[in-house]
Amino acid sequence: MSPGGRGRPRQRLGDRGFMQPPSLSKRRLLPRVQLLPLLLLALALALAVFIVWNSWHPGVQEPSRSRDLRAPLTGSLQEAKLRRVVGLLDPQRLWGTFLRPLLIVRPPGSPGNLQVRKFLETTLRSLSAGWHVELDPFTASTPLGPLDFGNVVATLDPAAARHLTLACHYDSKFFPPGSAPFVGATDSAVPCALLLELAQAFDVMLSRAKQQAVPVTLQLLFLDGEEALAAWGPKDSLYGSQHLAQIMESIPHSPGPTRIQAIELFVLLDLLGAPSPIFFSHFPRTARWFQRLRSIEKRLHRLNLLQSHPQEVMYFQPGEPPGPVEDDHIPFLRRGVQVLHLIATPFPAVWHTPADTEANLHPPTVHNLSRILAVFLAEYLGL
Ligand SMILES: [Zn+2]
Repeated sequence: MSPGGRGRPRQRLGDRGFMQPPSLSKRRLLPRVQLLPLLLLALALALAVFIVWNSWHPGVQEPSRSRDLRAPLTGSLQEAKLRRVVGLLDPQRLWGTFLRPLLIVRPPGSPGNLQVRKFLETTLRSLSAGWHVELDPFTASTPLGPLDFGNVVATLDPAAARHLTLACHYDSKFFPPGSAPFVGATDSAVPCALLLELAQAFDVMLSRAKQQAVPVTLQLLFLDGEEALAAWGPKDSLYGSQHLAQIMESIPHSPGPTRIQAIELFVLLDLLGAPSPIFFSHFPRTARWFQRLRSIEKRLHRLNLLQSHPQEVMYFQPGEPPGPVEDDHIPFLRRGVQVLHLIATPFPAVWHTPADTEANLHPPTVHNLSRILAVFLAEYLGL
């Protein structure tokens, strides 16, 4: 155990190094018969200190120790803390403040796209935690001619060594003029609204984490141009993620080599908000994180904290996905990033139809997912 080690464990270890062990000469001054009671006393004192520390800092030790190993094994939140974390979420705010403004036609280069991009930037900049918000604008040639794109990247603490990166795409699929409007509620307005709600709900806790300079920070990617503009293929899809992955690969990161290598885990949310979604683990490297989501689903169910959720596990299913899914994680995966892909498979019934609207969303599912993700984040980041 390394109490208070979060953020600066080595310094603490160094401090301890300066505290000299009792010298041989002092030990020799003690008669042998007194050694046992003294040892017992020391043990009791150490136990008391441990208990007091534990009650002040529940759940802190495990993440800090794991971070030193660069293989986080987060601890589960204590029940009271878990209830507090879930209580920070505001379903009305998620829906009214964050989701509704996204539910407009917003293909790349359109006025709706610009409006949503501005909304994302303004919202992220308004948070008190002081996010570092960047725009990654670029022009790419597409089957529709050259188009302007823009990814929005928000990093809580750019100086942190490692990033837990959550991503979604904010563009909606382009349909030719005269088609019925397509607002992509599940694809991917809900995932983006979930990220905004999590950032808002955790604002105070994230602010504190930033002040404490914890070594792993949160990063949010709102990607443009995920959708194909004519027909899906390597040259017509994933415009934003391809551009951003390339940029992040070339930008140095302090103290790591590049910004893409600072990504400890890349969690991609897509096609969320329809009833009864099923998720599978897509990559063995991140199977343990998938298992954690499954455990959180079970735990929240047992605590009766999920709505319209009759079985212990409904979302995070064991077994293989029906097939590989191409999505915004691909450019990152190809560069060695660990990916957790949270996409409903099979896809929602409304996928790429004008019926992918607010009316066809299932609010209890959206709020259940927000709760599962909130607990996951709080545990991962040691909030
Ligand atoms: Zn789509």
